[in-house]
Parts: sequence; structure tokens; C-alpha cells
Amino acid sequence: MGKNKKSFVPTESCLSLSSHPELEEIHDKPRIIDTHTHLVSTFNAYKSKYAQGKYNTVHEFVRGLYAGHNVEAIVDVWCEAPVQSVWRSIANSALTEEDRREKWGGIEYWFVMGVHPHEASLYNDDVETDILEAMAHPRCVGWGEIGLDYHYDNSPRDIQRAVFVRQLQHAVRLGKPLTIHTREAEEDAEHILKEHVPKDHRIHIHCYTDSPEWAARMLDHFPNLFIGVTGVITYSTNLNTSAVIRWLVQHPTPSQRSPLRIVLETDAPFMVPSNIYATPALKEVKGRLPLSHTAMIPWTAAFVAVVAREAAGDSGDEWTITQVLCEARENARTMYGV
Ligand SMILES: [Zn+2]
Repeated sequence: MGKNKKSFVPTESCLSLSSHPELEEIHDKPRIIDTHTHLVSTFNAYKSKYAQGKYNTVHEFVRGLYAGHNVEAIVDVWCEAPVQSVWRSIANSALTEEDRREKWGGIEYWFVMGVHPHEASLYNDDVETDILEAMAHPRCVGWGEIGLDYHYDNSPRDIQRAVFVRQLQHAVRLGKPLTIHTREAEEDAEHILKEHVPKDHRIHIHCYTDSPEWAARMLDHFPNLFIGVTGVITYSTNLNTSAVIRWLVQHPTPSQRSPLRIVLETDAPFMVPSNIYATPALKEVKGRLPLSHTAMIPWTAAFVAVVAREAAGDSGDEWTITQVLCEARENARTMYGV
């Protein structure tokens, strides 16, 4: 009797990915921007699975697994209440170019901060003071992830709504881009965003899984809104995200630079792209990788490219993994200035 497939943890070396097969031949490889990652949680997930693993600090982990994989920048997310005080030393370690080269392997570290709807009931004046202080940090590029989550309902809905509005008002006042988490709360999220956020504000709807109709309405109303695509697009349980990609390709807005108004993200340590197990190096591996990380972004991009190609049909648009990565890179620049 074999063990359950899921109970096997592949060896640590499986986390060190080589290039995506479609990028192997490309000399000038497109750069990767992970617009939403939880770095400390990802490192902790790594340490819990590989206690004797070779990386002992967040910096070693990033240098080991991300540097050398064309990762240009990450946007880290701090969304706990109370605020984790370690944010400051991590953000400070990316202040100078020399530090970014030596500690981060040349990767640009940026972050956003806010209180997640799960923890809305823990939001108070002290937490808000900490966030406001973080907003002034030179590596801070936004307020988030904030929003509504009626799937888990970890905080009462009325508190979620009040805390969402309170954070939105500060972010808008400060001109900070927004990272939004919304799940099964379409009506309230739409109402609140349209009431409290100016049309031209920059908004990233992170890890999008809600209906394509809602995405269409929001994209239509907010010209600087981007859909965040994670590895969840590769899951057979999720059809909505692919439907949004199809809608985007088939409904280009003339005023927009590109029809593909998406940014790519991992939401690491969650959601390893499922198509990664088809790559030669992982084909024979038993079990599933216990965490995702930024160097996995090309697998999500490859999946998006296939959906976009199918949606474009005969219209002549040939979407490739390179094109998807490049469009997403430009969108990340527009969204967060990174
Ligand atoms: Zn997240």
C-alpha cells in the first residue's frame, strides 16, 4: 500500500526551477514581476517543510530561488493585525542600491500594507497608526490587501465593510494605489469602491476568481484597474479567471495600451500553478510542491497565453508567454510604479 500521493513532500531541490520550456531558447528573457507575494509567510512555509533546508534567512531564500530567474521585482504584502514589526527591517534592507544588490540579489523589493478582511475585527487606531507610518516608507507602493471576504466570513460583514471604507479613505487621501481582496462579495465591493474611490485611481483586484461580469463592470468604470492573475487560473475548479482573460482579449478598449489588463502574481506561499508538474524536471516527482514562489510566474503566464490565443481566434493576435510577461510587466509599472 503506497502512501497518499499528497503526503509526499518533494525534495528541496525541486523548488529550484529551471527556465520554463517555452523560454529556454529565448536569449533575452522577459523579466518577471510578482505583484503580490507574502514573503515572510512563504519563507516560514519553506522552513516548516524543510527544517534543514539550505536557506536560513528571507534574503538567502530570495537570492537562492529568485535571483538568476529573471525576477526583476516583487511586491510583498503585509496584511495582518496587529502589524508585524519585522516589516521595517525587511523594508529597510532594500533602501539602497548596494543593499538590493548584496542582500536581494539585485531584485527590487517593494511592499504594500493594509488589514485583510479576515482580520477586520482586529483593526483599531494603533494598527492604523502603524500602517500610516509604513505608507511613508520609500519602498511602500500601495495600501492592501483590503476588501471583503464573504466566503470565509472570518470577521463580521458589517465590520469588514466599515474597515474597508476606513482604509480606502486613507489610501485615496494619500494617493496610494489599492490592492483589493474580494471574494463572493461582488455587490457590496462594487458599491463601496464606486462610492469611495475616484475613477482614475489605480486598483489591483488581486487573485481574481469572481464572475467575468463583475470584472467587466469594474474594468469599464475604472480605467486604471488591473486584474490580478495567480496560479489559480490553472485549476480545473476555477473557470472564472480564464473567462475574464477571454473577455479582455475580445473587448479591447481603444484608449487602453493593451487589451490584457492583468498583472501577474503568486499570492505565495499559496497556489502552485498546476501546469508546473508537466515540466520535464518535475514530471517524475512524487507528491506536490508545498509552496509557491515568484520564479513560478512563467507557468501562470504560459497558461494565460493559451487562453488568450484561443480567445483571439482568427483575429491575428498570437499571444505568447513572452508577450504576456511583457504586458504584465508594463501593467505592474503603471499600477505600482515599480
Ligand atoms: Zn494575498
